[in-house]
Amino acid sequence: MSPARANDVRSLPRNTKHRSHLSRRDFFDRAALTAGLLLLPQGMRELAAQTGGDTPISPKESLKVTKIETFVLKNSWVFVKISTDAGITGWGEMLKDDAKACAAGALEVADYLVGKDPRPVAHHWQAIHRGAFYRGGPIKTAISSGIDQALWDITGKCFGVPIYKLLGGPTRQRVRVYGRVSKETGVNAMKVGPRATRAPFKYVEGRKFVEEVTERFKALREKYGPDVDIGVDFHGAVQPATAALLIKALEPYHPWFYEEIVQALNVDVMAELAKKTHIPIATGERIFTKWGFREILEKRAATILQPDVCYAGGITELKIIAGMAETYYTPLAPHNPQGPCSLAASLQIAGCIPNFLIQERGDNEYADLLAKPLPPVTKGHRPLPTEPGLGITIDEDKLLAQVGEPEPYRAKFDPDDGSVVDW
Ligand SMILES: [Mg+2]
Repeated sequence: MSPARANDVRSLPRNTKHRSHLSRRDFFDRAALTAGLLLLPQGMRELAAQTGGDTPISPKESLKVTKIETFVLKNSWVFVKISTDAGITGWGEMLKDDAKACAAGALEVADYLVGKDPRPVAHHWQAIHRGAFYRGGPIKTAISSGIDQALWDITGKCFGVPIYKLLGGPTRQRVRVYGRVSKETGVNAMKVGPRATRAPFKYVEGRKFVEEVTERFKALREKYGPDVDIGVDFHGAVQPATAALLIKALEPYHPWFYEEIVQALNVDVMAELAKKTHIPIATGERIFTKWGFREILEKRAATILQPDVCYAGGITELKIIAGMAETYYTPLAPHNPQGPCSLAASLQIAGCIPNFLIQERGDNEYADLLAKPLPPVTKGHRPLPTEPGLGITIDEDKLLAQVGEPEPYRAKFDPDDGSVVDW
């Protein structure tokens, strides 16, 4: 499977089928718009259709999905593009692991989606998720997540508003982000791993390892003082016995949260460790759909949820997960190690839920993939998107220049005995 180049022939906004519903003035305005668009270069037509002040079609006009395309980048980011017969396109992102499988799986959804109106997004989510006999899991949910983002992108563009406005927002004016602490951007929250001279590859680490991690974190806390929030991401790479030692040893230096203290495959183990510390436990980047987060919430395994909009079920599912979390006084801090659709979709969630905490890697502006970089972060916050849909325009030339073979598997091994370790 090789990523296909986008079709250069796109149809224009059309209104013939529903012309009788339009006023005379609407008709001539639309005719003038169409004539004007025809004079524009193809790329500009696309941009005008997506970001123009007017909605590209009226809400009552019919709209059909015509094509699904996928793009695998050399850094393993996977994009899905959905085209419609009105020239409106939507973009989404999927999972980095098994990148080619995600891309191929999204193409298979075309059998269901092509020819359908893209705007009943929640209905399509149900059909794609429940239409499969074998449901959920990383790849399947990533496919539904990327398609969900793209369908919301199209729907927002149809209505001429950012997605959060279709979901009851805005619920806040700006979005706090974490990433690189900087006076220039005002970002004052960051995350580190349990750093030592080596990775925590032993099932039960000894005193030397625990003391090294503690000393390094203590030095970091002294460097930044109390003004910077510092989370510690165990990355699921620390085994439970070692995690129990570390969460007690680091407590005096006020970690903001502990993330993925263990793998989320046995939620009872995580819940047991969570009870042993007053520091909030965060998890979610390897949990899928509302059903996965139900167990985390019910067992009180975490008090900060980090679903990823590219593989927990998309915008549709994160909104539902946020509602479930609200009943446990639990906020969302969406996971984001990926590209511009991932961040843009997460910002839409921030704009439509009450219980949003902070956005991971929210300080990236993605100039290498977007026609126009995201507006800068100031005072530690990124503005809510204002343009329709996801609020971004993928530059396809920039994207295609990065298409290629994804990164290989990254198995890691204990250097002492060669056994496989978590990472
Ligand atoms: Mg993490």
